[in-house]
Amino acid sequence: MNAVIFDGELRIEKVPKPLFKKGEVLIKVTKAGICNTDLEIIRGYIPGFKGIPGHEFIGIVEEADDDSLIGKRCTAEINCACGACEYCKNGLSRHCPERTVLGIINRNGAFAEYVSVPEENVVIIPESIPDNRAIFIEPLAAALEILEQVKIEKDAKVLLLGDGKLGLLIGYVLPSTGCDVTVIGKHRKKLSLLENYNVKTVLLNDFIDSKFDIVIEATGNPSAFNKALLNVKPRGTVILKSTYEGGFDFNPSSVVVNEITIIGSRCGRFSDAIDFLCKYEVPLEKLISKEMLLKDAIEAFEYSAEPDTLKVTLNVNK
Ligand SMILES: [Zn+2]
Ligand SMILES: [Zn+2]
Repeated sequence: MNAVIFDGELRIEKVPKPLFKKGEVLIKVTKAGICNTDLEIIRGYIPGFKGIPGHEFIGIVEEADDDSLIGKRCTAEINCACGACEYCKNGLSRHCPERTVLGIINRNGAFAEYVSVPEENVVIIPESIPDNRAIFIEPLAAALEILEQVKIEKDAKVLLLGDGKLGLLIGYVLPSTGCDVTVIGKHRKKLSLLENYNVKTVLLNDFIDSKFDIVIEATGNPSAFNKALLNVKPRGTVILKSTYEGGFDFNPSSVVVNEITIIGSRCGRFSDAIDFLCKYEVPLEKLISKEMLLKDAIEAFEYSAEPDTLKVTLNVNK
């Protein structure tokens, strides 16, 4: 099969199709999305990564122990856990220290014609969700993780920093709580995608610092952390969604003096994302900047890294 390979260098190569293994499900990939984590991988930010990247995808089950799965349209939870440790037993398999992660840690991902995942990771996509929304299930789950970690009250004032792919998804999710949302970004065009979503949008240069109950940092830029601290009320909460290489200077005094709660937030439950997509008409397909083919993956990665690009998808098996 054709696959995108990264082992220090990115290329497209013919590799053996994964063999069907008991307990796993073999999926014929239809579409895969390029995410910032993939860009980090090819920039070498995930040390030791070798293999097929790609963790946002949809496909059709081709082989499985359970016959009823065959032919179903699905995606898969990306954390493949041991099932036996303390975290797994408490429903926190996303934090299993033994886990492999699809296309990220020690497991081949979905930028290929086929991908194999543990059967318990497979998530069937309801028919009412079109492909171009379903491709966002993984990052949407990450956006919804915030609501699992923090109870956002109706009268809360929430500031969201960032108008990238994840920022916009969070911008679509927050109004479901009824809270008052302000989104700051650098791109008028990206912010315009949140029009009619009960959120206020402001360009960074026009924003006047003020105080919010909750500030969510999703810019992917280390300098935004101090901006978040500057705009959170005493006893307020700062939620961090960005991961980036390297650190930055930070004086913890204001966190101590103002008794700020800082919460790190990563992946969420796919079932929450699916419920959300069934309940709300959210035009996530507008976040797709370009649909390309697997064979053009190298250009797709380059295009994806441009500042004005949102989601780039790779159509596979077409
Ligand atoms: Zn991702
Ligand atoms: Zn475990």
